[in-house]
Amino acid sequence: MSEDLGSAYPGRYWHALEDGRIQCNVCPRFCVLKEGQRGLCFVRARSGDQVVLTTYGRSSGFCVDPIEKKPLNHFLPGTSVLSFGTEGCNLSCAFCQNWDISKSREISKLSEEASPDTIAKAAERLGCRSVAFTYNDPTIFFEYAIDVAKACRERGIRTVAVTAGYICPAPREEFYRHVDAANVDLKAFTETFYHRVTAAHLDPVLDTLRYLKKETGVWLEITNLLFPGHNDSERELEEMTKWIFAELGPDVPMHFTAFHPDWKMRDVPPTPPETLRRAREIARGNGIRYAYTGNISDEEGGTTSCHVCGRILVGRDGYTLTSWGLTESGACQACGTPCPGVFEGEPGHWGPRRLPVRLSALAAPP
Ligand code: SF4
Repeated sequence: MSEDLGSAYPGRYWHALEDGRIQCNVCPRFCVLKEGQRGLCFVRARSGDQVVLTTYGRSSGFCVDPIEKKPLNHFLPGTSVLSFGTEGCNLSCAFCQNWDISKSREISKLSEEASPDTIAKAAERLGCRSVAFTYNDPTIFFEYAIDVAKACRERGIRTVAVTAGYICPAPREEFYRHVDAANVDLKAFTETFYHRVTAAHLDPVLDTLRYLKKETGVWLEITNLLFPGHNDSERELEEMTKWIFAELGPDVPMHFTAFHPDWKMRDVPPTPPETLRRAREIARGNGIRYAYTGNISDEEGGTTSCHVCGRILVGRDGYTLTSWGLTESGACQACGTPCPGVFEGEPGHWGPRRLPVRLSALAAPP
């Protein structure tokens, strides 16, 4: 008996092989599927003579977050973002902080049915300026994410992809035509780490970073989660930040964030705050103008300053904005130097709140 593939939606980017199997071309895993088989991401599967997406229109849950939590520090600071994910993932990170979703094998985790239009309307009703595809990687549900992004654009709401950037060029081009901002998780700067700890490869991720910066208008920030003893050596941080400066320029913000033991990496200790501060200094020393620390209490490391005159542009204490020094057009109030990013005159006032929401309750009549 063939497996029930849930709400299967026709998937894009695959081709039939001569031996009768079908190859998925969405991400560089290139899963080869027999009838009824699922890919490594679990949510794309072969059904008959095509690949289907089994999670279209369903989510593992919705939450209103500060945009700084994605993390994005140069994209509508202080505003709220309606965050959601589905299930599954195309990486196998031993340190995953969302493993209950990313490695879920139960469709029942997808508790909420949500059409693209319902999500866009909910964001509008909740006062969110953007919707984020997060918790798990939108690469694997990009058809659904694109339809959500289209519905959002019709209502003036932006969309954000929180991603590992492990995606093939053709679906990447299609996806990012519809998305306004991305935070790409650059997990390390060695192929050894990618291969051993995430079961993926470094080069396709670097290719996505280059693509986003050089060939799209998507606002880009980078996160680098630091694991003591695994990807935090002076040499690796030097090489990574020199590469970013040379290939992407000085204006792509970097977030060095702290690891908390989880999933299969419980034997690795939490990242000492000093490691994050050191990484930030190395990045700044290599010409990165906007380097931040994350997941720790560090006002200086969370604050945006003008790279010319040093004036504080956006002061932050955790996810709370403490000062604002930008003009209407997003330039330094003191010296007039533009700050790269997406700014709209006024800061938001959402603060550090995290508000779980059920869209069905929101849609119900009062
Ligand atoms: S998107 Fe999923 S099915 Fe397609 S290649 Fe990647 S892991 Fe495999």
